[in-house]
Amino acid sequence: MSLVNGSVYRNGNFYLEDIYISDQKITKIVPSGKILPCKKIVDCTNKLVLPGFIDPHVHINLDLGEFKSSDDYQSASKTAAFGGITTFIDFLDPISYVHEFDAMLKKKQNEAKASYIDYAFHTTVGNYNDDVDKLIKISRESGIPSVKLFTTYSEVNRKISYTKFHEFLKNSRKTDTLILVHAENDEIILNENVEDTVESYESSRPAVSEIEEIEKIARIVAELKGRLYFVHVTCGSSIELLNDKYRELLGKNIFIESCPQYFHLTKDMYDNDNGSLFLLAPPLRSLEEQEKLKENISVIDTIGTDHCPFTKEEKLRYKEASKIPKGLGSLEFSFSLMYHLFGDEIIDKFTLNPAKIHNLFPKKGIIQIGSDADFVIFDPKKALFINSGHSQSDYNPYESMITTGMVESTILRGEILVKNRKFVGSMRGQFIRRDIRK
Ligand SMILES: [Zn+2]
Repeated sequence: MSLVNGSVYRNGNFYLEDIYISDQKITKIVPSGKILPCKKIVDCTNKLVLPGFIDPHVHINLDLGEFKSSDDYQSASKTAAFGGITTFIDFLDPISYVHEFDAMLKKKQNEAKASYIDYAFHTTVGNYNDDVDKLIKISRESGIPSVKLFTTYSEVNRKISYTKFHEFLKNSRKTDTLILVHAENDEIILNENVEDTVESYESSRPAVSEIEEIEKIARIVAELKGRLYFVHVTCGSSIELLNDKYRELLGKNIFIESCPQYFHLTKDMYDNDNGSLFLLAPPLRSLEEQEKLKENISVIDTIGTDHCPFTKEEKLRYKEASKIPKGLGSLEFSFSLMYHLFGDEIIDKFTLNPAKIHNLFPKKGIIQIGSDADFVIFDPKKALFINSGHSQSDYNPYESMITTGMVESTILRGEILVKNRKFVGSMRGQFIRRDIRK
């Protein structure tokens, strides 16, 4: 296969080049002009040719007891492919002991057989009570050099103790394992005494709970080093604080992820009749925090979606915020939404940065010889009208918005998944081991 006459994104620039693919890899990149003989030629005239996108933060088949998130691997990977995502990283269910790891891994591996796109996993711990080095060792032996932990949710026994957190970070310093942190201050949240309603939801997990916890964690990283990754940062103030006080750690010891919802939706949604459709944790923030988040886009390393949709009926079943399942679906429109705001500056945050931070590089995240032939053919001028999309949820939080810029086609390891907005893919997603050479 070859992709010809497109504007190919490499090293932060665009080049008029033709790309040749064989055996699922990129084998040749030459200036456009004379087209070499090839079985299948895809014309990319006036289009951008970008590396396949990586979403480092998705929840598929998330089981909350009464509720289960709407997307399984088949529907999640399909909606992702429409958004140009060719690799996503899901989370194993939380464990408290090493011996639980195998079962969680097997469960996900089984589910993921239905994936159209490539996938990887993060290990997750809740109220972890066991040997840290042992867990990281078996996780890494399984191709998973990342562990997620929570500083909150003590009420459901998720919170990590600070002693254990120190152990994870110390191990990370030795092994380069990435420690993912959901940072919200548990005491602040427990002490908030607000009504259990959608209108008061943001004040029940206020901005300050994130900002304080991020500062607390950053202070520990300054002392212990290691590799730490803040998932779903919601507040511009959190980013500003990290950039002002801990700049020397950024990109080396501390990495920052944010999500499209925090750039496009604000907590004012919670005052509307259908406010519960927008409930997620951490909550949407004020317009001021959102503006600051936009101003600090250059400090943010990656954009993940935290994709975890539910249906309208499920979101509207209860009035009490505590009973409503939290989560939104964003996979399909994440890139277009962010490209609409920031243009080319956003590309690395969907490709090179997540690939490097999450150890998918140079297999993924870059257009170069030897890398996987994963591509997005993107029309930067075409308007995209956002509808409910291809998720199994019956709504999308961005419905009826219009973005400039549309994913037209998506290619995974040399085979077309989405062709001019039509799905033509087959189920050939693979588990990607993320081995660290250290
Ligand atoms: Zn999440």
